[in-house]
Amino acid sequence: MAKERVYLFDTTLRDGAQTNGVDFTLADKLAIAGMLDELGIDYVEGGYPGANPTDTELFGSDHKLKATFTAFGMTRRPGRSASNDPGLAALLAAKADAICFVAKSWDYHVRVALETTLEENIASIRDSVRAAKASGREVLLDCEHFFDGHKANPQYALACAKAAYDEGARWVVLCDTNGGTLPNEVETIVGEVVNAIPGDHVGIHAHNDTEQAVANSFAAVRAGVRQIQGTLNGLGERCGNANLVSIIPTLKLKAEFADRFETGISDAALKKLAHVSYALDERLNRAPNRHAPYVGASAFATKAGIHASAIAKDPATYEHVLPETIGNRRKVLVSEQAGKSNVLAELERIGIKVDKDDPRISSLLDLVKERETIGYAYEAANASFELLARRTLGKVPNYFDVEQFDVNVEQRYNALAQRVTVAMAVVKVKVDGETLISAAEGNGPVNALDQALRKDLGKYQDYIKGLKLTDYRVRILNAGTEAVTRVLIESEDEAGDSWTTVGVSPNIIDASFQALMDSIIFKLVKSGAPA
Ligand SMILES: [Zn+2]
Repeated sequence: MAKERVYLFDTTLRDGAQTNGVDFTLADKLAIAGMLDELGIDYVEGGYPGANPTDTELFGSDHKLKATFTAFGMTRRPGRSASNDPGLAALLAAKADAICFVAKSWDYHVRVALETTLEENIASIRDSVRAAKASGREVLLDCEHFFDGHKANPQYALACAKAAYDEGARWVVLCDTNGGTLPNEVETIVGEVVNAIPGDHVGIHAHNDTEQAVANSFAAVRAGVRQIQGTLNGLGERCGNANLVSIIPTLKLKAEFADRFETGISDAALKKLAHVSYALDERLNRAPNRHAPYVGASAFATKAGIHASAIAKDPATYEHVLPETIGNRRKVLVSEQAGKSNVLAELERIGIKVDKDDPRISSLLDLVKERETIGYAYEAANASFELLARRTLGKVPNYFDVEQFDVNVEQRYNALAQRVTVAMAVVKVKVDGETLISAAEGNGPVNALDQALRKDLGKYQDYIKGLKLTDYRVRILNAGTEAVTRVLIESEDEAGDSWTTVGVSPNIIDASFQALMDSIIFKLVKSGAPA
C-alpha cells in the first residue's frame, strides 16, 4: 500500500521569533533557513514582510531553497479592497513561493478585536486568497483561534476555513493559538473539519501551553490532517510551538506513523537532527536542553550499573529507538554508583581498548569513586574523565609543565577617575626544556590566568589557538570537614566540538587552574599533538 505524504511546515523564523529573548538577524535567518532546507522541511516560513526591516530585507531578494519559501501576513483589512491595502501589497511584492495568510475564525474575535461583521471577515479571506492565487503563489490560510472558535460557533469557524479552500488555498491550517486545547478535542474537531475539506488540504498549528503541542499535532494527523506546523526546539511565544525536533523522529521511527506516512526527511537527514537542534541553540547562545527527547545529551544516558550492563548486551533493553538514527549517541554516565560495566562502556566509546579483566580497570574505578567523594564530578566532566582514564592506563604525554604562576588582583583608580578592579597573571611554563614566561590581564583572576596560560605554549600554540571557554560554573561544596570549590569549565574548539573539565580545591583559583589545565591537555590529546 502506498504511503500518504505528510508535509512539514517550519515557522521557527516567524512564530519562533516571538520567543522571549530571541532576536534573529538577517544572517541568522538565512543560516537557519539553510539548515531547515538541508533537513528536507517542505515549507520554510521566513517572516512577515513589511512588519520589520529584517523581514522586508529577507523577502527582498531571491533565495535558493528547495523548500517552499513562505511569507506570512494578514488578509486585507476590513472595509478596504484587496488592491488598496498596503499590507497585502507588501505581501504580494515579497519574493516568496507561497503566502500564508492569518485570519480570524472565532466569531467573538471578529466582532471584538477586528470590529467588523462576520460576513466582511469571510469576504476578506476570499479576496485575499484570490489576490495571492492570481499572483501565482501557493496560498495557505492560518485560521487563528480555530479550536476555541469552533467550540463557540462551529458553523462560523468552518465557514472561514471553507471560504479559503473554495477560493483555491492549497492549505487551510487549524491553529490552536492559545494552546489550551486537549488532544481528544483536537481529534474530534479535526474529524468534523475533514468531512467538509479533504484532509490533504488541512494542517495543524499547535502551541504548547498544556505541554501537549506535539500530542495535539499527532491527534490531528490521526484525525486526517496532512500538514504539521512547528518550530525547531519548540521555539515560540509563551510555552512555545509544537517541536518539530520531536515530531520528525516520531513520524519516521514509530510504526504507527512510519508505516502509513512518508515525509520529505530522508534517513540520512534524520541523522543530522541532533546537530541541527544543537546548532540552533548555539546560534541563539542558549544552553541546549540536556533532557530534550531524542536529541538531548541525556536522552540516551544511563546511570545505574545494572542498566549499563544490560545495554552493553543489547541496547534495545533500555532504549526505545537507536540513538544513531537521529545523530545522538548512547552515553553511560560515570558516577559514584558506576559499575565496572559503565566504565568499560565509556572507555570503548572514547576509543580506549582494554581487556575487561585488566586490573587497571578496578584501579580507575576506585580512583573515580575516591575523587568523587572529595567533590569531583566526572559525570558532568567528560574530558576530565577521559584524561583520568588515559592517565591510569598510561597514555597521556607530559606536554608541558607549569613551574609557577602568580595572580594579582588590584583595585585602583583608572585615568577617568573610576574605581576599577584589574587582575593580572604571570605564568612560567616549561616546554621542551625551554622556559616561557607570559603575562596577561583579565576581567577577573581566572580570566587573567587563562589568558596568560594560553598566550605562549611554544610548539603547542597552534593546537590550542581555536580553543575557547564557553562556560564557567562554580559551586561551593561541603566535603568532609571543610568547604571546597568545584569549578566546571566548558570549552569548544574550531571544529565545534565541546567538552567539560573539572577542578576541585578549597581555593577557587587552584580549582580553576586544574580545570583549565585539563581543558588544554584534552585539546592536545584530541588533536594528536606530539609529546
Ligand atoms: Zn502560532
